[in-house]
This record gives sequence, C-alpha cells and structure tokens, in this order.
Amino acid sequence: MVDNLAKIHEEILRLRVTLNDWSHQYYVLDAPTVDDAEYDAKMKELIRLEKAYPEFADANSPSQKVGGSVSEHFQKHIHSSPMLSLGDIFNWEEFLDFNKQVTKITGTSENAYYGELKIDGLSISLTYKNGQLVTATTRGDGLVGEDVTTNVRTIKTIPLQLKEPVDVETRGEIYLPIAEFEHLNEERLIKGETLFANPRNAAAGTLRQLDSKIVAGRHLNSFLYYYIQPPRPKINTQEKAIRYLNNLGFRTNPENRLCRNLDDVKAFIEDFETRRHNLDYQIDGLVFKLNDFQYYEKLGATAKTPRWAIAYKFPAEVKETILRRIFPSV
Ligand code: NAD
Repeated sequence: MVDNLAKIHEEILRLRVTLNDWSHQYYVLDAPTVDDAEYDAKMKELIRLEKAYPEFADANSPSQKVGGSVSEHFQKHIHSSPMLSLGDIFNWEEFLDFNKQVTKITGTSENAYYGELKIDGLSISLTYKNGQLVTATTRGDGLVGEDVTTNVRTIKTIPLQLKEPVDVETRGEIYLPIAEFEHLNEERLIKGETLFANPRNAAAGTLRQLDSKIVAGRHLNSFLYYYIQPPRPKINTQEKAIRYLNNLGFRTNPENRLCRNLDDVKAFIEDFETRRHNLDYQIDGLVFKLNDFQYYEKLGATAKTPRWAIAYKFPAEVKETILRRIFPSV
C-alpha cells in the first residue's frame, strides 16, 4: 500500500513537471510542442489523482494556477481583480453536472445562461478613464499581467476613446483572424522562419512584440466579453453588460445568445458544433455564463476558475485542419 502510494505520488509529480514544461512552451515561448487535447488529457488525469489523493495536494500545482507568466520586457501590472481561467467540460452530461452545482445557489435548475463563442486568442484587460484608453494588460499569471498598451493601441477595433466619457474596466480576447494567420505563416515560410502553431500562439506572439509597428501590420482583432468595474446596479446580467460594452464602442460578438433554459443551451451547442468551421476566426469551444449577476458572489471561484461560468470545449481538430490546409505535408 505504501509502495503504491509512493508510486502515485511519483506519477503526480511527473504530471506536474510535464504540464509545467508544456505551459512554459505555450504561454512564455508561444510555441507549443503538443496538441491542446494532449495537454487537456494530462491535466484531467492530474486533477483526478489530486482529487483521489488529497494528501498530495499542492497550491503550486498547475491544476491550481492560471497558466502564463510575465515577461521582463514589459512593465508589470497588478490586476484590479484576478484574471481567471475557465473550468472545462467536454459533453452534455458534464454541463448538467455544472448546472446542478449552480442550482444549489440559484434554487432552480432552469437557469438562463449567456452563450458565447470561446475565441482562441489571449485575454486582455482594458482600463479607460474619462472614456480614454489608459492601460491594456495581458492576463499573465492571473494576478499580475504585462502592460501591452502601446501594442493594443494599434488594434483598430479597440477604441482609444469611448462614446461616453466614463471610467470603465473591461476584459476580452485579442485574436488573429484565420486569413491573417495563414498569410503570416506563408510569409514566415518564405523567409525560412519558424511557423506559428496556430492562430492563438500567433496572436500571443504578436501582442508581446517589442516593436508596435510589427503588431500594427498583423491586423489583430478583438471581442470584449466581461464588464469588470465600476459597479453599475443597472448592469445586472451578462446580456446587459455586453450591450453596454457594445454601446460604448467595443466590439462584441454578434453570435452571443441568451439561452433561457437548458434546451436553448443544447441548441446553441448543436448549432456551433457545425458552424464553428465556417467562422473566420478560430474557436475552441463555447462559454456559458450564468446570466444573472446576483448569484456570482455566492457561487464564487476557485483559485483558477469562476463557478458561475464554464467552457464547453470542442475536440482540438480545427488547428490541425488549418495547418494541413496551408501545408498539406504537415
Ligand atoms: P482556456 O483557454 O481553456 O479558457 C480560459 C480562457 O478562455 C480565458 O482566459 C479567455 O482568455 C478565453 N476566452 C475566450 N473566449 C471567452 C469568452 N467568451 N468568455 C470568457 N473567456 C473566454 O484556459 P487557459 O487557462 O487560457 O488555457 C488552458 C488551455 O490552454 C488548456 O486547456 C489547453 O487547451 C491550452 N494549453 C495548451 C498547452 C499546449 O502545450 N498545447 C499548454 C498550456 C495550455
């Protein structure tokens, strides 16, 4: 038994080392060496073992931390509130389990969720004072991010000035459209440069360039999807938050949809299981956010993920398809 436990501990440590290595390649070097599905499978196994053997828990485990780090080339920015990741689910049964947990707080199983596309880019936090863009920061390790304001100023869909002179912090995704990704990799192929593995890594590598002229030439784009502060009592649902952001001049995703009940959630999933291949940007799933903000505080969050939202992940086949389309021999 002791022997067996020692072996399990060894396996947990091995998984943590592997996942930390892969995270470094993905978040710091913007050059993943394994497919996301492989990363997700190993992470799932680590979480399973840590749950079954709580005696081996460690607050520094990759299962407990938001991935990413802060490059010394940029100024550090302490987030006003943590920039968290999202819990993952992969099928309808897991969505029902998630809804069961939400039901414990809301008291009803017919919860309304705001359905969004899970854009495969990188998170950004934007702060405006008097309607003027002041800072733009990456997620970093969730607590501290990188100040990439100069680069973000070059993104055409990020307003430098809002339609109203308000103070506001909002978060969303910066991404590289598929056509831009293909164009960028074709250019890199001609120049004999290393290719980006996927649009997400290309977007991350671009946003963290030291020369903002390079960023300007790559045509990054954005969708904003979180209203952070200041508190506004009238913005009490995700649907209203998105409308407000849109009215201020931010680009929000027109595919977002209020799902009033579980049937609507299911229909949204079925719709995008096919339509995801016809978008001009890459998504790796859908995000469902409890629409009513009044329950968010009670539902709370783990160190890594909120309990009022969930990512419904699609199998990681799109990335391969894109690469194969440009480079059939890959
Ligand atoms: P994640 O990408 O699975 O989900 C959280 C992120 O989703 C948020 O931080 C936000 O940036 C993004 N997002 C996109 N659309 C959103 C929307 N509408 N609403 C809210 N958020 C939205 O989590 P993560 O912590 O950024 O990264 C973990 C994932 O990254 C893994 O599951 C794996 O797939 C991948 N990864 C891969 C490797 C590798 O080596 N291949 C290494 C590390 C991580």
